[in-house]
Amino acid sequence: MGTQALSVVLEGLRARRVIVEVAVQRGLPNISVVGLPDAAVRESIDRVRAALAAAGYGLPRGRVTISLAPAEVRKTGSSFDLPIAVALLAAQGEIPAPRPDQAYIGELGLDGSVRTTRGILALTIAAGQCGFKSCIIPTQSARAASHITSVRVKTVGSISELVESTQGRRDLPSLSSSTENTPRPTAQNFDSLQGLEEAKRALTIVAAGGHHLLMVGPPGTGKTSLAQCLTSLLPPLEPTAQHEVSALWSLGGQLTDWMIQPPFRAPHHSASAASMLGGGPQLQPGDISLAHRGVLFLDEIAEFRRDVLEQLRQPLEEGTVRLSRALARAEYPARFQLVCAANPCPCGFRGDSLKACTCSPSQVERYQQRLSGPLLDRIDMAVWVPRTSLSRTNQPSQGFRSADYYVRQVRNARAAQRARTGPKPTLNSELSAVQIRAQVRLDLQSRTLLAQAESKSGLSPRGFVRTLRVARTIADLEGTQKVTGVHVAEALQLRAGIQHWTGQG
Ligand SMILES: [Zn+2]
Repeated sequence: MGTQALSVVLEGLRARRVIVEVAVQRGLPNISVVGLPDAAVRESIDRVRAALAAAGYGLPRGRVTISLAPAEVRKTGSSFDLPIAVALLAAQGEIPAPRPDQAYIGELGLDGSVRTTRGILALTIAAGQCGFKSCIIPTQSARAASHITSVRVKTVGSISELVESTQGRRDLPSLSSSTENTPRPTAQNFDSLQGLEEAKRALTIVAAGGHHLLMVGPPGTGKTSLAQCLTSLLPPLEPTAQHEVSALWSLGGQLTDWMIQPPFRAPHHSASAASMLGGGPQLQPGDISLAHRGVLFLDEIAEFRRDVLEQLRQPLEEGTVRLSRALARAEYPARFQLVCAANPCPCGFRGDSLKACTCSPSQVERYQQRLSGPLLDRIDMAVWVPRTSLSRTNQPSQGFRSADYYVRQVRNARAAQRARTGPKPTLNSELSAVQIRAQVRLDLQSRTLLAQAESKSGLSPRGFVRTLRVARTIADLEGTQKVTGVHVAEALQLRAGIQHWTGQG
């Protein structure tokens, strides 16, 4: 049997324990890596050789085999450098045999330093899920990793530090879990937007119940700013969600800090399927997973590639996305709130107070057909975002309410949903058709309104259920248990906006 060091690998967010084993046999000097390594893992040998040499150590003499088990799981990235170096040092008796309850994660620099690598937080969290008691990671990653609670994290800066720690000449710093857990205020909130009360109301409903929204209006009326405000209305992420979202951002190579606030992603309309849904050689998460537990904003939705939008349907239904490529497979969570924005026509000024629309009826029709379709069927409501006049943007408009007012409303409505759904809190938008029908007992007025919408405006069965969910949220915002005709009427009006602005009404 050879010498072992332990590490972790991820398939999507699913963690697997990896045994890095080094066996040395007599024979001509040769070194090989087995166990489905990708190119980065195979190149690891060169980095490890240089790093060990810089610290004053060599490789074992003879035929060296490095095995990464389990063999059937594809190993990607440079995070195996450190466990390989540890196993090689132990095989030569330079350090004692590594502990079986400790994982090693990190890339090596040619100068013997231990460096951070893509996905380091996801891997460290994974080490906890695999049952490791402690995990040794690069010092560079200490700040973000200090929020991880599932495993004891120690940091190391170089091979020399590591060797000295095993000889009892130094202690590797242990991260005490950070108590700093206060979300920073988001850049945008409603205070910076005057007027637009109708759009603010719609966003408040969206934030309270986790619904999806379409905003239509001429260019430059603040649709993007409104969408950015949505994250300021959402409550900070729960600890489990913080781990999940931070892991996804670290795998996406986007992590600068631990994620406490719901994320916001706004991919450009030229985005490819791989960047939107996830993909690439290492099956990295895409925008829809980086928006997990937060907001995915698609500005100028009509300009997005049709095939990319089509592929959003499954994640919207299931809250996850499955990727596969050659031997690799990954499944990532993707439970995001979709906010789309569109101009009302190709020139953008149809229905505008300032400028006349120059589009022909057939141009408008073609454009609206691009907006309609299966994706919009999954959106709960639409709102018109008008141009606000200059005088109104300089001083508080009538009925202006502070951003705090909306935040409080959302908080109370979420508390009501938690109280109703018990130990596993479910947002109204996540309730199944059966659940929402059980929760909303319709009065006569509501039933009449819905029947009218079915017969006159062609409200579909899917639309019916979505209307009930939105009506439930509107009642929650009001603080009432009973859903009445007033709530259903507002929900229907918001839903009718979709049909109106996509030319189906
Ligand atoms: Zn136009």
